[in-house]
Amino acid sequence: MTERLYYHDPFLYEFEGQITEVVPAAEINGRHGVFLDRTAFYPTSGGQVHDTGWISLESPSDPAKLRVTEVVEAEDGRVVHYLEADKPPERGTRIRGLIDPARRRDHMQQHSGQHVLSAAFIRLFDMPTVSFHMGGDYCSIDLENPALSAQQVEQAELLANQIVQENRPVEIKFVTQEEAQNLGLRKAPRTDKDELRLIDIQEFDLSACGGTHVRGTGQIGCILLRKTERVRQGWRVEFACGQRAVSTARHDFNTLTEAAALFSGHIWDVPQQVRKSLEEIRAVRKSSEHLLEELAELQAARLLAEATTVGGRKLIVRVFSDRDLTFIRLLAQKLTHLEANLVALLAASSEQSSLVFAQSEGMPFDMGALLKETLNELGGRGGGSRDMAQGGAPRAAGVEAALEKIATRLRT
Ligand SMILES: [Zn+2]
Repeated sequence: MTERLYYHDPFLYEFEGQITEVVPAAEINGRHGVFLDRTAFYPTSGGQVHDTGWISLESPSDPAKLRVTEVVEAEDGRVVHYLEADKPPERGTRIRGLIDPARRRDHMQQHSGQHVLSAAFIRLFDMPTVSFHMGGDYCSIDLENPALSAQQVEQAELLANQIVQENRPVEIKFVTQEEAQNLGLRKAPRTDKDELRLIDIQEFDLSACGGTHVRGTGQIGCILLRKTERVRQGWRVEFACGQRAVSTARHDFNTLTEAAALFSGHIWDVPQQVRKSLEEIRAVRKSSEHLLEELAELQAARLLAEATTVGGRKLIVRVFSDRDLTFIRLLAQKLTHLEANLVALLAASSEQSSLVFAQSEGMPFDMGALLKETLNELGGRGGGSRDMAQGGAPRAAGVEAALEKIATRLRT
């Protein structure tokens, strides 16, 4: 077993030890690992992520300072430290370990903050925490309860922050399983070890935990609750503590400021202004739909007036450079409704092309088949019914000629 120095002193950032075994670079991750007789490095476990830092080799022949990139708990309870190193260090080498203090401080703030928050949800609403996630991006707890209101979230946040402001002592205690039975732990411990490590937040929370924690709740700084979402077993509550909460609030503020500047308004007016803009967009869209409808009707009338009748039917072939699929589809509908014996071969062409082939009801051709044939030639895709078909081609070139080719066939 590796002696875990952080069990007793989570503020120990520097320590001395010895390499007891070397794990050669595995084929999977390609990194060398070392076991130490004692360590202050926290391995990923219990929801808390691992420390990073450095291991300096106290070897006269090879005094390297190696980066510790990951720390993992082995199945036998020992701790593996993965290193950034070209060659594995030698077994038996004396080392000096250095924990990355900023990362450790962040983890202590998040993890102690989680204990306070979980206890607040129990005290206020009897909602137990069933899991805890800590990541670089966000932290969250899952609450086992069918409902969670915004008001409850705010109440829990308020109580949690009161506990932070009271700066209650946080103590580490070691007890036997038997002793633990009568102490009223927030959560039954998952281990069957004889000795339990408890984190005691004075008169507020007592939990079995192997994590690194602050000495007083004041060191958590603050607890900010954020997104809540429904998950299978209940509700997930995202939160950020301490410096992370400040960074998150800073990020939120910058985002809101950017949005407010777009409206030349105050950040608190952003929702109202977004709502107003959406309403305006909806109104503009509606009016543009009406105008497009009118335009299609006028254009259809003009095309019909210009068209000549050959063999009892009118054939309209037209490529638009300034219209889109929606418009030519609308135009095709207007044309075939206004005129009984009509075939329309329409395209909207800029960088890519959209095609609509349509005929009045009762006409003898198959628009779907004709369109497929044309698009095969143009390298596009599409389809439809006998009377109306639409599709697209990747280019504009050749569209006019392809329509003309079909028109020539329909004229004979
Ligand atoms: Zn814990």
